[in-house]
Amino acid sequence: MLVLAGAPLGVNFAVVDGSRDACAGQVAPLHVADWRDFDALERFAAGVDVVTFDFENVPAETAQWLSARVPVFPGPAALALAQDRVSEKNAFRAIGLQTPAFEPIASRAELDAAAVRVGLPAILKTRRLGYDGKGQFRLRGVADLDSAWAALGAQAQPHGLVLEAFVPFTRELSVIAVRGRDGDFRAWPLTQNWHRDGILALSLAPAAAAPELQRQALEHARQLAERLDYVGVLALELFEHEGRLLGNEMAPRVHNSGHWSIEGAVVSQFENHVRAVLGWPLGDTALRAPSLMFNWIGALPQPAVAALALSAVRWHDYGKAPRPGRKVGHATVCAADAGVLARQARALARALACEDQLEAARPWLPAA
Ligand code: AMP
Repeated sequence: MLVLAGAPLGVNFAVVDGSRDACAGQVAPLHVADWRDFDALERFAAGVDVVTFDFENVPAETAQWLSARVPVFPGPAALALAQDRVSEKNAFRAIGLQTPAFEPIASRAELDAAAVRVGLPAILKTRRLGYDGKGQFRLRGVADLDSAWAALGAQAQPHGLVLEAFVPFTRELSVIAVRGRDGDFRAWPLTQNWHRDGILALSLAPAAAAPELQRQALEHARQLAERLDYVGVLALELFEHEGRLLGNEMAPRVHNSGHWSIEGAVVSQFENHVRAVLGWPLGDTALRAPSLMFNWIGALPQPAVAALALSAVRWHDYGKAPRPGRKVGHATVCAADAGVLARQARALARALACEDQLEAARPWLPAA
């Protein structure tokens, strides 16, 4: 999606991925190499003006190594921070964004002690390499401590785990924002998100939110970007709980909850990320039309062609092989107003027999 957005600006891309099937290879030259293959990276770096990434588990050492040869944005320090849930939460607190209660865990004894201090229910997570609900275990009570440790204890060393209080949030929100090399900062309208099994299922923009809540959310993203001297698009994932915002995590990259911006905003997160890393002026992040994004997980729903018959639906097939839990595409419903949006979203869900996916968002959409 970065390539598709950057090509009209005259930008040429090359992609490095360990897999021959990397979907970006459909639209740009693909160098198949491990991200720790420094000989291959040397050749790659020699042919490009700037390096960026769209996956946060690229090794931070690789970003660091590349940055000695070619500009890398976002910078390796921001990437490293976002790879560690504890550093991330400490950064949130430093800018005045509260987080769920949490404690780092390195041993079974620390887990037992943290369960008392943080309280249960709670979620045990790996500090590193977790995304889309991977590396997480939900503890309902003390009876779950053994199974949580059995599931994740092996990962307590060397990188550690974190125990987080379970937040019975009202809803999940995200800020997608971009900061240029010159410090220009912009954010797209606040987005509301629904997850299933820890994986994003639906995103609605703009989120219906009081102006003060929106202002606070965007201000947190601005402060975080400035603190990290960030360049590029970042996502700040938030919980709204008892009228307050809590920081869940940040993603140092274009984000799934910003995919709606391809059609729903004047300039998408993808185009603005390309502009930012190249040091070009940023584009307008204003809303063009209210949008609802359906994520397709595991396999594309059928019959996909039925979606194309709906005037407000835009289809995105990533050309990935189906696999449980894998994000293989999305559809964005984009309409002139919230009423038409809700009608078209219901029509799409009916046509693809995925009404259950839309169910959680129903209270937030105009009634039929
Ligand atoms: P994460 O990978 O940390 O973003 O977690 C994936 C999803 O799990 C989140 O988007 C939430 O839906 C849920 N989740 C994560 N942490 C918490 C928490 N502390 N309390 C409640 N739900 C959570």
